[in-house]
Amino acid sequence: MPNFETVVVNTDILILGGGMAACGAAVEASYWAKKNGLKVTLVDKAAMDRSGAVAMGLSAINQYLGIAKGENTVEDYVRYVKNDLMGIARDDQVADIARHVDSSVHLFEKWGLPIWKNEDGNYVRGGRWQIMLNGESYKVIVAEAAKNALGTDNIYERVYICEPIMDGDRIAGAIGFSTREEKVYVFKAKAVIVAMGGAVGVFKPRSTGEGLGRSWYPPFSSGSSAYFTMKAGAEMTCQEVRFIPVRFKDAYGPVGAWFLLFKSRATNALGEEYMVTRKDELANWGPYGQVKPIPANLRNYLGMLDVAEGKGPIYMQTAEAIANLAKKYEDDPKAFKKKMKELESEAWEDFLDMTVSQAILWAACNIAPEEKASEIAAAEPYFIGSHSGASGAWVSGPADIAPPEYQWGYTNMTTVKGLFAAGDASGASSHKFSSGSHAEGRIAGKSAVRFVVENNQEPNIDDATIEALKAEILKPLAVWEEFSGFTTDPETNPNYILPRQYMFRLQKLMDEYAGGVVANFTTSKALLEKGLEYLLMLKEDSEKLAARNLHELMRCWENKHRTLQAESHIRTVLFREETRWPGYYFRADEPKLKEDWEVFCNCKYDAKTGEWEMIKRPIIRLVD
Ligand code: FAD
Repeated sequence: MPNFETVVVNTDILILGGGMAACGAAVEASYWAKKNGLKVTLVDKAAMDRSGAVAMGLSAINQYLGIAKGENTVEDYVRYVKNDLMGIARDDQVADIARHVDSSVHLFEKWGLPIWKNEDGNYVRGGRWQIMLNGESYKVIVAEAAKNALGTDNIYERVYICEPIMDGDRIAGAIGFSTREEKVYVFKAKAVIVAMGGAVGVFKPRSTGEGLGRSWYPPFSSGSSAYFTMKAGAEMTCQEVRFIPVRFKDAYGPVGAWFLLFKSRATNALGEEYMVTRKDELANWGPYGQVKPIPANLRNYLGMLDVAEGKGPIYMQTAEAIANLAKKYEDDPKAFKKKMKELESEAWEDFLDMTVSQAILWAACNIAPEEKASEIAAAEPYFIGSHSGASGAWVSGPADIAPPEYQWGYTNMTTVKGLFAAGDASGASSHKFSSGSHAEGRIAGKSAVRFVVENNQEPNIDDATIEALKAEILKPLAVWEEFSGFTTDPETNPNYILPRQYMFRLQKLMDEYAGGVVANFTTSKALLEKGLEYLLMLKEDSEKLAARNLHELMRCWENKHRTLQAESHIRTVLFREETRWPGYYFRADEPKLKEDWEVFCNCKYDAKTGEWEMIKRPIIRLVD
């Protein structure tokens, strides 16, 4: 076995991940920990300044209620979220985040985030819930506050977390390895907050060889949150829910500012607006077809129907939108010119703030947004419980508003003692976005401190467990060492599979059997069962993953994490015998929404036996 040093870190509260939720957890947990003489430690696979989905920056904060100024109520937000998810959301959790989110945004501003203001000093809204910002340095600013709260000695960057460490039915820590040095890290903790983001690369991306690595969701997070909580034995929810964003084609530039701020239309190649021409289709999707705004998946679906009928490409009518906005200045050529320049620069800045490659692609394709419409398309599926997806751990709700069925002690604790989840890691509370993830991290951080104060026992972990986990983590390096001399071409060897080839196998089977791009997001019982058969073969082969270096070791572990995310997805799509989210996926054998499936589909993995328990949980409404 490769001879890696073992570094043991003892702490009270361990935060896994360094993204928005983790930064929120760090600020809040550090505050309460200090009062109680406890230690908080954070581990990130990358460097906190630029890690996670906000790495490149954002041009809008998507959840800001403005409660103090009476702009919106918590109930309004709960209604919006559950309608957008076709009825599948936890009112208690969504409400808890919504009532705390404004304070996270106010903290961001206090820490130096430049949020746009109008002449009255109010935030400029991009839409009902969104506020606009100059967000290139958003993550740096939020991370700085978290780092100051934690202190640099308590931060471990470039350490990839692989597995949970258990003490009976209670979480006892986490184990991983440095992506830069030959070191295995063992973190022993009394409470663990999982905030390792969602998952990309489970499905085949649209861009393969020619643009491999391009995707809407950033490549950093590969299902570690879901893997970690499932391996620890936590009940999961909404694992069937995936998010398919419709974005500017090929570089995934954001569409939000175009629809909301520029008031642009999306049309097919014939100039027809599918949201108008296909309006009648909405009547087939129960009450959710009639709500405003129309749920994101239904909007996707109407566009997809046009594409399937050969009416693509779909276009964002950027030139028309800009012309409409500048129209009222037409009589004054100087003012008109100024307005056009302003709109043009806002259009480019929207991409430069958060998706630089879209600006490069526009330049490469000779697209001037004020002159020419630009293609938009549905991306491949992602798992992102904090955005318009909902997958993640089933967590305990807030004591004051959660019904007893959703409440078992500490807010945001999973069904495993001492294990908390926030952001993409916690399910059934969609539309948290960057600000809500931070707020939920803060809720989980405070709650985890309370758990440790009331359950302050040292974790009991024996050395044999650690040694076994260490061997498992480093196994891909050992496999390479043992077998690499067997063939002259390292890419082909009967004794191992390299992580890249493994990833291609996973993505191909998910794409074709579980309703990816190539299958036009359509699947069925028979396809899912066949896909599961191949997935279980692939899971067996994960024991034969080989790594030539530390980087490939990380790639191997990313794949292992993705595989369990994929398995829980297939099993839950199979379990839910209906089509609830056309536009995200379509069950061709169960093509309709069914009233009796207005429930949560939860699942639980037994790591010892490999068995799955599938569970229906009722939806208990707090808001009509
Ligand atoms: P992240 O912020 O993604 O953080 C995940 C963290 O986990 C990272 O630090 C990562 O390095 C770490 N990690 C992953 N695996 C491991 C591992 N194995 N070991 C250790 N660490 C690990 N929100 C808005 O408000 N406005 C927007 O305009 C907006 N646009 C978006 C655009 C895109 C393309 C995406 C993907 C998201 C967007 N969001 C937006 C949503 C927002 O970015 C997310 O809601 C938020 O970042 C989720 O927070 P999180 O902490 O759960 O995950």
